[in-house]
Amino acid sequence: MAERQGGSRLATLDHYVAAVVVAAIASVGATALIERDYWTRPQNWTALWLFTAMLLLGEMQSVGWLRLKDAGEVTPGWAFSFSILLLGSPLLSMLAMSVACMLPDLRRRKGLQRTVFNVAQTVLALFAATVVLTVCGATGLISSHTSFSPGRMVATIAAASAIFLTNSVLTCVAIALSLGIAVKSVLRRAFTLTLSADGALLVLSPLFVIAANFSLATVPLLGLIAYLVYNSSREALEREHRAGHDHLTSLLNTPTFHDHVNGHLATSRASAARGCVLLLDLDGFKSLNDRLGHQIGDEVLRRVGAVLIFDQSHGAVAARLGGDEFAVFFPDIDVPAQAVAEARQLAERLRAPLDINGFPISTSASIGVALLDRTSSTSEEVLRHADLAMYRAKRNRTGVELHVAQQAGEAGGGRISLLADVADALDRHELWLAYQPLVNVRSGKVEGFEGLLRWTHPKLGLVMPSEFIGLAEHTDLIDSITERVLLLACQDAKLLMAKAPDLRIAVNVSTQNLCRRQFPLTVRRILGEQGMDPASIEIELTESAFALQQEIATDAIKELRDLGVGLAMDDFGSGYSSFSRLLTTPVTSLKIDQSLIRNMTNDDRNFLVIRTVIDLCAALGLRSTAEGVESIETINQLRALGCDLVQGYGIARPMAACDAARWLEEHPVGVPITMDSTG
Ligand code: C2E
Ligand code: CA
Ligand code: CA
Repeated sequence: MAERQGGSRLATLDHYVAAVVVAAIASVGATALIERDYWTRPQNWTALWLFTAMLLLGEMQSVGWLRLKDAGEVTPGWAFSFSILLLGSPLLSMLAMSVACMLPDLRRRKGLQRTVFNVAQTVLALFAATVVLTVCGATGLISSHTSFSPGRMVATIAAASAIFLTNSVLTCVAIALSLGIAVKSVLRRAFTLTLSADGALLVLSPLFVIAANFSLATVPLLGLIAYLVYNSSREALEREHRAGHDHLTSLLNTPTFHDHVNGHLATSRASAARGCVLLLDLDGFKSLNDRLGHQIGDEVLRRVGAVLIFDQSHGAVAARLGGDEFAVFFPDIDVPAQAVAEARQLAERLRAPLDINGFPISTSASIGVALLDRTSSTSEEVLRHADLAMYRAKRNRTGVELHVAQQAGEAGGGRISLLADVADALDRHELWLAYQPLVNVRSGKVEGFEGLLRWTHPKLGLVMPSEFIGLAEHTDLIDSITERVLLLACQDAKLLMAKAPDLRIAVNVSTQNLCRRQFPLTVRRILGEQGMDPASIEIELTESAFALQQEIATDAIKELRDLGVGLAMDDFGSGYSSFSRLLTTPVTSLKIDQSLIRNMTNDDRNFLVIRTVIDLCAALGLRSTAEGVESIETINQLRALGCDLVQGYGIARPMAACDAARWLEEHPVGVPITMDSTG
C-alpha cells in the first residue's frame, strides 16, 4: 500500500515538473512579446554584462547541502538577475539565471529532472516579476535619467516579492511531493529560513541598478556588499543546520525529529497513512567502544548514520537520538507487517561488517517498531512505544519487535519510569530473592540455592529480573542492586543454613559490576559485616564477564577468587561460548544453559555438546550444573553423563526464603531423584 502511495506521489511529481516546464516555456514567449521593442531601446550594456558576470560568479557559490533538503537556498545570484530585470532586460535575466542554475547542478551531477525544474522555476519567478513591473508600468525605467519615485519603489518591492513567492512556492511543492510531506510545513520552514536573506539580497537590486547607472566604478563595491550579505546569511543557515542536526552523523537530532514527525501528524490527521517509527539501538556498542576506543566507536556511529541517510528514500527521515540510539520515520508505511519487514531489511543491512581502518567490525542492532495510530498521537508517544518494543527485542535477542498496544510495562510508563521505580524499590525494600535448589544428581542432596531477584512493584505486581536488570545495567543502579542482592543473600543464608549448615548460596552478578574498581572490596565488606564465610557464597557471572579484555575485570575476578568465594560461569552454551576460555579463567563451576538442556533429549548435537562440556568440567576439576531441568528423563541422562548438580522446575521452582526453609525441612535427606526411587 505504501509502495503504491509512494509510486503515485512520484508520478504526481513528474506531472508537476512537466507543468512547471511548460509554463516556463510559455512565459519566455510571453516575455518576448512584452519586450518586443527591446532591441530598439537604449541599453546600458556595460552594466548588463557586469551584472551577468557577477551573477554567474555568485551562483557557483551556492550553499550546496541546502538544496532540496531544507527548501530554498540563498545565492547572491537573485540580486543580480533582478538588477538585470530592473535595467529593462527580463529575457537576458532569465537566460543568465538559467545558465547560472545549470552550472552548479551539472557540476554536482544532479539528475536532469532536477536541473530542468530549477531552470524552469527560476524563469517563472523572473516572469512573475516582469508581469508585476509591466502591470505597474515600471519596466526598464530605472536609468540615470529617471528618478526613483515612490510609485516605482512600490512596484519594485512588489516585483521582488513576486520573485520570492514564486520561487519558494514552486520549490516547496516539489520538495513536498518528492518527500511525501505537507506543502504547508515545507513552506513554513522555507519562509522562516530564507525570507530575511533572500529579502535583503532582492532589496539590494534597485540600489545596484542606481549605482551602476551612476558610475560603473561602484560595481565592485556592490559585489562586495552582495557577498557580505550572502556570507552572513549562509552562516546563519549553517548555524540553524547545526542546531537541528547531530554533529557526528549529520542526521536530525531529537527535537528536530519530533518536530518533523509532529508536523507530519498535524497535516495527515485526515488521511489514512500516518507512518511508523523504528527505534534502533546498537548491540554491544558500549563494550565495542570500551575495547576499541572512542575513535572507532565514533566511526561505527558515523557509518550507521550513513546507512540510515541512504535509507531516507520516499520521505523517510532518520535521527540520532544520542549515544548508539537512532530513529527512522517512514511516513508511508502504515501496515504492521510492512513496517516489520522494513526493520528486518534495515537490521540485515546493518549486519554487514564495516571495514574500519582495514579491520572488519561487525555491528548489529535491536529495532523496536511502532505505528502512528489511534494510540499514539504525538511523536514522543510513538517513540516511547518503539522504545518499549526495542527493549523487548534486545531482551529476547529477537532483533526486531513490533509494539502492540497494552504491553506489560506500559502501565508503568515505559523504561524510564520503570528505572525511576527501581531506585524507589531499593529505598522501599520491594526487592527480594527467590531461591531455587541446586541438587546433587547422584545423591539427591540439596547442596545449595541460587538466589533470583524478584520485585514486588506497588502497581505492576511481581516484576521479573528480565524486565529491569538489563535496564539497570545501563545505569549506576546496577551497583546498588547487586549490593542489595548480596546483603539479602547473606541474611537469608542464615535462615536456610539453620536447616542445612553446609549449603552454598549462589548470587548473580552483572558484567557491569566487575568494571567497578571497588567491587571486590564491596563483596568483602558485606560478607565481613554479615559474618558470612566466603566459601559459602558462589558468584555467577555470564561468559561476557570473562570475555572482557579489561584489566579491571580480570583483576576483579582474581580478587574475588582470592577472597575465597566460588565463581560460576553462567549460561554456558547460550551465546558464543568458548571452550578455551574455560582453561584460562579461575572458575570453580560451570552452569550449562537451559537452552541446551531443554532440547537435550531430542537433539543429538545438543546432547554431544552437553556430554563434552561435562567431560571437560570433570577433567578440569570444575563442578557442572545443568539449568532448566524439567523432566525425569533429563535428570537420568545427566546423571549418566556424570553431571554434578541439577536445577530446574523439575525439582523445585524458585521460592521465597521462608518457603525454601520449609521446603528444606520437608526434604531432610534430599530430593528423591535417584534411579531407584524415581523408577
Ligand atoms: P539465570 O541466572 O540463568 O537464572 C535462571 C533462570 O531460569 C531464572 O529465571 C529461573 O527462574 C529460570 N528457571 C529455573 N528453572 C527453570 C526451568 O526448569 N525451566 C525454565 N523455563 N526456567 C527455569 P529468572 O528468575 O526470571 O531470572 C532470569 C535471569 O535474570 C537470570 O538468569 C539472571 O541472569 C538474571 N538475574 C536473576 N537474578 C539476578 C540478580 O540478582 N542479579 C543479576 N544481575 N541478575 C539476575
Ligand atoms: Ca544464574
Ligand atoms: Ca543461567
